[in-house]
Amino acid sequence: MDVFGASVLSPHVTVPLRAAVAAARSRVAGGRFAEPSATADGGQDAAMTHSWLFTGPPGSGRSVAARAFATALVCDNPDIVGCGRCDQCRSAAAGSHPDITWVHTDGVVIQVAEAREVIRTAAAMPTVAPWRIVVFEDADRFNDSSANALLKSIEEPPERTVFILCAPSTDPQDIAVTLRSRCRHLYVPTPSKQEVEAVLLADEKLGLSPEQANWAADVSGGHIGRARHLASQDAARQKRATALRLPGLVYEGAGAYQFITELVKTATEEAAASVADRDAREVAELESALGVGAKGRGVAKAQVGSVGQIKELEKEQKNRRTRLLRDALDLALIDIAGLYRDAMMLAAGAVDDSGAPVGGYLHPDQLKVSGELARRNRPDSLVRCIDAVSECRTTLGFNVKPEVALTAMVGRLKECCGQV
Ligand SMILES: [Zn+2]
Repeated sequence: MDVFGASVLSPHVTVPLRAAVAAARSRVAGGRFAEPSATADGGQDAAMTHSWLFTGPPGSGRSVAARAFATALVCDNPDIVGCGRCDQCRSAAAGSHPDITWVHTDGVVIQVAEAREVIRTAAAMPTVAPWRIVVFEDADRFNDSSANALLKSIEEPPERTVFILCAPSTDPQDIAVTLRSRCRHLYVPTPSKQEVEAVLLADEKLGLSPEQANWAADVSGGHIGRARHLASQDAARQKRATALRLPGLVYEGAGAYQFITELVKTATEEAAASVADRDAREVAELESALGVGAKGRGVAKAQVGSVGQIKELEKEQKNRRTRLLRDALDLALIDIAGLYRDAMMLAAGAVDDSGAPVGGYLHPDQLKVSGELARRNRPDSLVRCIDAVSECRTTLGFNVKPEVALTAMVGRLKECCGQV
């Protein structure tokens, strides 16, 4: 079995990627492959190109696809392309392959300086593998200047470099139109519950019982990372349970507002705590590199410039905490919206023979709450609740204070549920 077979990727993804790797190998052996503009004539070579855009909803397996593709490109097993066993495959899997650069952004946007640095790396010839692969895991976080910086490399790619950009969709909000037009697009569909369950069970490190894997696959809506997280971490299960209390609290006077204050406070503290060590280490490293605290001639002058650099680092760290906070709140909101969706389907009578919503419950362990919400509200009110949650998610994406956005959402939820 190759790295594609070992993943949960659909044939829609694995067939073109296997063909691409085969074409890439023949290119290394002296052939050539076409650029996106020349793919219309579709020969064998056209299967490969330098620049790819993988899209799909979060958790669909965009990064799984990128990892499998990158691994297969560096694999040197002559018989099985992407064997998963050779040294190249193994170091790719461990994330330590010298020719695979994995760009994961902690900040809200990929800054132009960061993009330029990656582009410099990308321009170099690979060291051990036939290809150098650069994966932008969050290509939706480019701003105009960083997208423009990358554009040049994508237009005239270094001979042995392959770019893989991952984004939620091809919507201009998610990926700059200029980048989109120069990449070959591959859509990575969301895996089914059964597929997610199979992946969890196959992962020996998790060591799950069939019941645990089934539950985690059930409540994570096809999101593999989320399912893995819920299955393995008690804290994650706890957070989900907390978030799902909100729809009930909407009926309890000011309870929902207090809940929001508490939720934002906890999430803020957790975001800070999760990066505290790293923040402190980065500051200490920078200070020692700049000679802060040192004594002697010329030091005072040197330290004037260092203040700016430390400020810059602190700004970056603040961005990182903001992003972590937003991501945590976004997860809570997705869960809450799912509960309203279950209730809405029940209220609208969109159910199958067993009385469950068509396509199944998003929260099969919360039947009492969704049933109660469905009993109390008309379907159109529940649709408006879902809208209120989605709008809050959008608002959080802008620079609105989380507590303000969530408080406004609670106000709307109360109104929709006749609690004003
Ligand atoms: Zn291999």
